[in-house]
Amino acid sequence: MRKVNEIFYSLQGEGFYSGTAAIFVRFSGCNLHCEFCDTDHQNGTLLSKEEILGKISKFESKHLIFTGGEPTLSVDYDFVQFFKDAGYYIQIETNGTNPVPENIDWVTCSPKERCILTSADELKVVYTGQDLNSYNNFSAKHKYLQPCSMKNTSEVIEIIKHHPQWKLSVQLHKLIGIE
Ligand code: SF4
Repeated sequence: MRKVNEIFYSLQGEGFYSGTAAIFVRFSGCNLHCEFCDTDHQNGTLLSKEEILGKISKFESKHLIFTGGEPTLSVDYDFVQFFKDAGYYIQIETNGTNPVPENIDWVTCSPKERCILTSADELKVVYTGQDLNSYNNFSAKHKYLQPCSMKNTSEVIEIIKHHPQWKLSVQLHKLIGIE
């Protein structure tokens, strides 16, 4: 059983898969306490993987996003494989503090403190004034810089102009007013 905060169907609003119809499974709990955390993830209901599959199978998309909270606290290889065997493409959004099951299809890492990952499919940094050189050794196909709660967008645009290996990620779901 896993503690699940919410399951919803929407468009991915951030990063490489922005605009893609996807099912979000938000697991409860996180091992960090970031000041800018804008996710209410603590509450939840205990669900089996079969119950989760029952809830998501009514949606048309096969793009399944495990998010949180910190989803690596809740998922392991067998859990991921259960959904892959049911035909889902699995993306995970992690803070990078725990190993990620190797059968995940797409890893989005938003590193905070204590990040142990050194590679991911995409790196997504919420910009709060960090030294971007500290991510030079992180290997990723795509590197996204994201304004913090859309408050410093102009600053982030200027920084990307000077660091063109980064791309802008806006929180599309907030811009267009969807969940
Ligand atoms: S890692 Fe993410 S979910 Fe956890 S406290 Fe930080 S912003 Fe919130």
